[in-house]
Amino acid sequence: MKMKISPEQESQESQEPREAVAQHPIQHHPADDMLESFARREMPAGMSVIVSAHIEMCALCRARVREFEAREMREWSGAPELARMAAHIDGEEVDFGGMIERITTLPRQGAEAAAAREASAAGPQDRFIKDLRLPRALRRAATRLRWTRLAEGIHQAVVPIDGETRCEFIHIAAGAATPAHSHYGREHTLVLQGRFHDELGSYGNGDFLLRNASHEHQPASDEGCLSFAVLDQPLRFTRGLSRLLNPINRLRFRAGLGSR
Ligand SMILES: [Zn+2]
Repeated sequence: MKMKISPEQESQESQEPREAVAQHPIQHHPADDMLESFARREMPAGMSVIVSAHIEMCALCRARVREFEAREMREWSGAPELARMAAHIDGEEVDFGGMIERITTLPRQGAEAAAAREASAAGPQDRFIKDLRLPRALRRAATRLRWTRLAEGIHQAVVPIDGETRCEFIHIAAGAATPAHSHYGREHTLVLQGRFHDELGSYGNGDFLLRNASHEHQPASDEGCLSFAVLDQPLRFTRGLSRLLNPINRLRFRAGLGSR
């Protein structure tokens, strides 16, 4: 996996699609227990995809996951297959993208999968992703997105990844705000492009944040923002007429789950 982190490299390749590489020091990272369960392959596929995408963008968490993996390899030392993998991890190149493709079982098969890979390799011709080069872990999920309008300036595209999480791309137009909401469960968000803010902070690309049932928030963006979110329960709207959406939102959450 090639990481491009310097602005110089970025400018040299201005003709290429822009990498979803953080333009600022990443401030918000997955918690250690999350990185550890990623390293141990204990997560639902949707969670693995979002953590993997963050790791592609974040050298700090990449190193942390390597530590957890190396520790686990030591615990299992002796098995030849694991020893080979450990040797690979000690090297420069750890292919997290390939790893995630092996871990996850996406519904696309055969020729369709090959076509999807080709399309994503060429850069998705998508109304909101356009020239952005997504982290590898997200590219397959991002083919042929079907965007639906959630509110003024807010669009979402649900992608089926597993049967336990709801995974979606979310686009907030410049100047737009999502309806205020809380969560029945946890909402993990990875910022891919632009910046958004809520009551608790401001987040740029590469930032990974977790919101749960104790947080009520209303994400808004001044410059526009594309992010990827993984929910283990539906949103719970908390104010005004949008509360009427709660029952239907629970149904939509179930409908958005993959592999059923
Ligand atoms: Zn990180």
